[in-house]
Amino acid sequence: MSTIHPTELERHECELGESWREYDAQGIYLCRVCTECKEIKLGKYRKVILEGYSQVDVDEIIEPDDYMPSWRCYGGTNTVYTSGN
Ligand SMILES: [Zn+2]
Repeated sequence: MSTIHPTELERHECELGESWREYDAQGIYLCRVCTECKEIKLGKYRKVILEGYSQVDVDEIIEPDDYMPSWRCYGGTNTVYTSGN
């Protein structure tokens, strides 16, 4: 086996029969990898992209309760279509 420099592996053109597509945790296509270049290519991506968020991450990210649409703040349902005058 020949040794390939890591910078070459970043752009490794994998043999089709020996490679596969890698997707992130949300099913978004990242790149094609093989056993030779997988570590290098996937090393560029953050762990949460590859594996998704853990429960701890979700707890930190979750939005507060005020995400309701702003039109709710106006209260009435009868003012939206009568502003023509
Ligand atoms: Zn490869």
